[in-house]
Amino acid sequence: MSEIIVKGGFVIDPTRKIDGDVADVAIKDGKIVDKVSSGAKIIDAKGKIVMAGGVDVHAHVAGPKVNVGRLFRPEDKLFKSPMAQDGFRMESGFSVPSTFKTGYDYARMGYAFVMEAAMPPLFTAHVHEEIHDTPIIDEAALPVFGNNWFVMDYLKKGEIENTAAYIAWLIRVTKGFGIKVVNPGGTAAWAWGLNCLTLNDPVPYFEITPSEIITGLLKANEYLGLPHSMHIHQNDLGNPGNYQLTIDSLKLAEGVKPKNKFGREQVMHSTHIQFHSYGGDSWANFESKAKEVMDYVNKNKAITCDLGCVTLDETTTMTADGPFEHHLNSLNHLKWCNVDVEMETAAGVVPYVYDKNIKVCGIQWAIGLELGLYAKDPNRTFISTDHPNAGPFIRYPRVIKWLMSKKAREATLDTFKYKDKVIAATNIHSIDRELTLYEIAQMTRSGPAKCLGMSNIYGGLAPGMNADVGVFDLNYKNMPSDPEKIEQAFLRAAYFIKSGEIVVRDGDILGHGHKKTIWVNVKMPENPQVMRDITQSFTKDYTVGIDNYPVHDYLAPHPFVINVDVEA
Ligand SMILES: [Zn+2]
Repeated sequence: MSEIIVKGGFVIDPTRKIDGDVADVAIKDGKIVDKVSSGAKIIDAKGKIVMAGGVDVHAHVAGPKVNVGRLFRPEDKLFKSPMAQDGFRMESGFSVPSTFKTGYDYARMGYAFVMEAAMPPLFTAHVHEEIHDTPIIDEAALPVFGNNWFVMDYLKKGEIENTAAYIAWLIRVTKGFGIKVVNPGGTAAWAWGLNCLTLNDPVPYFEITPSEIITGLLKANEYLGLPHSMHIHQNDLGNPGNYQLTIDSLKLAEGVKPKNKFGREQVMHSTHIQFHSYGGDSWANFESKAKEVMDYVNKNKAITCDLGCVTLDETTTMTADGPFEHHLNSLNHLKWCNVDVEMETAAGVVPYVYDKNIKVCGIQWAIGLELGLYAKDPNRTFISTDHPNAGPFIRYPRVIKWLMSKKAREATLDTFKYKDKVIAATNIHSIDRELTLYEIAQMTRSGPAKCLGMSNIYGGLAPGMNADVGVFDLNYKNMPSDPEKIEQAFLRAAYFIKSGEIVVRDGDILGHGHKKTIWVNVKMPENPQVMRDITQSFTKDYTVGIDNYPVHDYLAPHPFVINVDVEA
């Protein structure tokens, strides 16, 4: 493989506390190295900033519900896409882009890794097929566990070890990465037309509560010592007044100690926290509780979160929170699609327009940004849009612009029909903080890499790490007075080098990169009872045989396997 040297840029690397020093980054054989020979290819980064590849901890980019979104919304393809360059694939779709556009657009923004945030275990093959089809970016997927019948059955009886053994088996056979929890208990209750809207609502038949599911899965995660924390979408998403439930479920992480060999320091990752930081008791008095929620996150070091910023676009919502999508459909009366996945989970899809002329949408926009601006530790608070739920991922550069520029925030506020009402229901107008490039690098690089237990691979530019290097056309010493330049620079990288190969130049795709699927191989001594339960259930309940359930190696042909050995 060739050698590359990225010369003379302003390097921003929070993993080594480097903030804008002019330095070179040397690359050899796909890794960052100390130095290269004089024959190395030179990339001139003078006057530009240099960061590690971005790490997205939460997006919906592959699998059946994403594909339902594509089929269900042909109008999503009316947004203009660039013509295919020679040798590259056509790109289509806006809020639910094709797999090719997904890979290309993330690469254009300098992203190296993306986590598919909700994998239905039964449809794992589809998830891995789409991941395999997505060029350039490395990906992993989180199987969902919060409504799984085995999990609820074991946890009801307090059997943490059996829960852990089941999870280990399922992560192994699905080539998954960790434990995702979506509306714990609520999605299972949905099969009876019900939901769990408090932490103590019993799940029908299982007679277990969301609080017990969360606590049990936190313990199982640490029993196994997985690289990532338990990753949770809390109950009562999207409803006025839900912030207290959010804080109460974050409190369940208190006292749980991280136990892993990957350098992960937290035990709970609270996702798209914007949707969970709502005050008021109706849409009429809906208001921001971003400060209350972020005050708690700032204090409790056991927690990481991602923002889930509303970007004010027309988009397609999709989630394993089936009852929520039914509720959303009753609010906006657009299309609704719903599916139940046997004993595991469910999902729904509903289009949504975040309209600047609607007060609630403006307040949601403000809440997402307030959370980022109130964050005291950018290494525990990450940028996301819960793509495509609060907006498409190609808006990350716009979110960065808003977080870095009060002028940009005020310009957007000025376009709102109910500007005064949005200001009255939020704190956005009074917050002067503007995040620095260093803090943005923490929120998009070093922070998420560490929370995923992969800080030795992603999120930094130290020798030995993956050679994922972005060069962005911004001058560190002389930041533009025009915030639009910030968005432009992060939307189309001047260069992006992925695993040592130049894949983007001036926003154009140059190569398909060396894409990898990352999965966790949890090795645990055989648990005969759990294996008997699984085998019996496949014979009795599932529509597929157990032999047809595991995902085959050819669906993840370039894997990077993280081994986890669980002692007896
Ligand atoms: Zn999500």
